[in-house]
Amino acid sequence: MDSKEIIYEELMNRMKKGVCPICDFVEFRLAEALERFLHEGINTPHTRAKIEWTNGFCNFHAHRLLQLGDPLSHAILYHDFMNNVMKDVPDKKSKTDRSAHDECFFCNIQKSNEEDYTKAFLEFYKNDEFASRYEQEESVLCVPHLVAIQKIRFANKKTVSRIVDATMEKYQILNHHLSEIKRKSDYRNTDEKWTDEEKAAWKKVVSVFNAYPGIRP
Ligand SMILES: [Zn+2]
Ligand SMILES: [Zn+2]
Repeated sequence: MDSKEIIYEELMNRMKKGVCPICDFVEFRLAEALERFLHEGINTPHTRAKIEWTNGFCNFHAHRLLQLGDPLSHAILYHDFMNNVMKDVPDKKSKTDRSAHDECFFCNIQKSNEEDYTKAFLEFYKNDEFASRYEQEESVLCVPHLVAIQKIRFANKKTVSRIVDATMEKYQILNHHLSEIKRKSDYRNTDEKWTDEEKAAWKKVVSVFNAYPGIRP
């Protein structure tokens, strides 16, 4: 688990990237966890047993792990998974659903990091250095993480309003770029060049609206 100081630094540094700092940090830790799993976790009986018990990984994390290569690790893991499939699926008495992957190992890591970083963002926002970094830089909370902040129990209402207001200003700017794309796509205006912001906005808004891939708060 990350210490408060580490979370503060990581979120602060990510404000300069023009992305959702929470998504970006969660993604960074996920990438680390996937690598670590292939190097150490695969040989840790406890972790292996846990993953077998929860029926492998969810679709998203299975494919993320696959992208890292490593034929031997995959053979070891999936040999066990498939043995379970061949035992349970033909067995009419078996109640195990081998197509379900509810307690995915990486989903759980991701969820707990998201919770920690979302709460930390709210807590740090009382600090002027943190708040002004967010307000002045191009970073923008995604909708899922903004709503998650609003839903934190016993949150300081003033701080939440300040975060919401600052984020709405950022959404307004993003939406302006989207309307410009629409306007410039009209046949009467096609000679007008797209700005760099407009070129990026239609992609950026997907991560703002839906969060980073694989994040389902
Ligand atoms: Zn986010
Ligand atoms: Zn997962």
